Amino acid sequence: MRLVPLFLILVALASCGRSGRPDVSAYTFSRTETGTLTRLCNNPALLGEPTHDISEGACGMDNPVAVRYVAGVRLSTPATLNCRTANTLADWVEHDAQDAVRKLRSPIAEITIFASYACRSRNNQRGARLSEHALGNAIDIGAFTLENGTELSVEEDWGKVGKEGTAIGNLHRAACGPFGTVLGPNSDRYHYNHFHFDTAEYRSGTYCR
Ligand SMILES: [Zn+2]
Repeated sequence: MRLVPLFLILVALASCGRSGRPDVSAYTFSRTETGTLTRLCNNPALLGEPTHDISEGACGMDNPVAVRYVAGVRLSTPATLNCRTANTLADWVEHDAQDAVRKLRSPIAEITIFASYACRSRNNQRGARLSEHALGNAIDIGAFTLENGTELSVEEDWGKVGKEGTAIGNLHRAACGPFGTVLGPNSDRYHYNHFHFDTAEYRSGTYCR
C-alpha cells in the first residue's frame, strides 16, 4: 500500500459504506509508525506483520498474522490471529464497532487487547477443552479508546447507565453474528473485564452471552 507521510492517523470513515471492502485510500498512516508494516490477508484494512506457522502440540495455525492496525484503529499490542479471524475483526471494527460508539461523537482510535493466540485450555482450566485462542480463532478485548481520549472499559462501563454503558453494550451486541461466539461479563466469572470473540462455528448458530 502507498504510505502517505501524515503524522495523524486519519480514518476516512465517511467514505466507507456498509457494503464491500474499504478502499485502500480510506486509510492513511504515519510513515514512522507503519514503515515496516505490510497489508495482511490481502485486506487493506489489516496492517501488521506476517509471522511463521505455529505448531505447539495441539495448538497452532498456518500463516498467522500479527495485526497492529485494523481499519485505521491501533491495537494496544499486536494480535496474532489466523486470517479468517483477522478479517472478521476488520469487518466488525470498521462497520459495527464504529457504529456502536457513534453517539459518543468520536471514533474508536485504539483497542486494548488482552489476549490473542495462546496455547491453553478454555479459561486456563486444567482438563478443559482446547481454547479457540490455541488455534488463532479468538481475541480478548478489554477496552476501547476514542479519538477524543474517552476510554470505554468492559470492567468499568458494562451495565452502567449512560452513553458509555450503552456504547459498551452495543459493541458486545454488534460482535454477535460477525463472530460465532461472543462472551462478556454476563457469561461467567472469567469474563468480568473483557470480551471474548471467536470464529469457531457452532451447529446451533452464534453463541452470545
Ligand atoms: Zn478469550
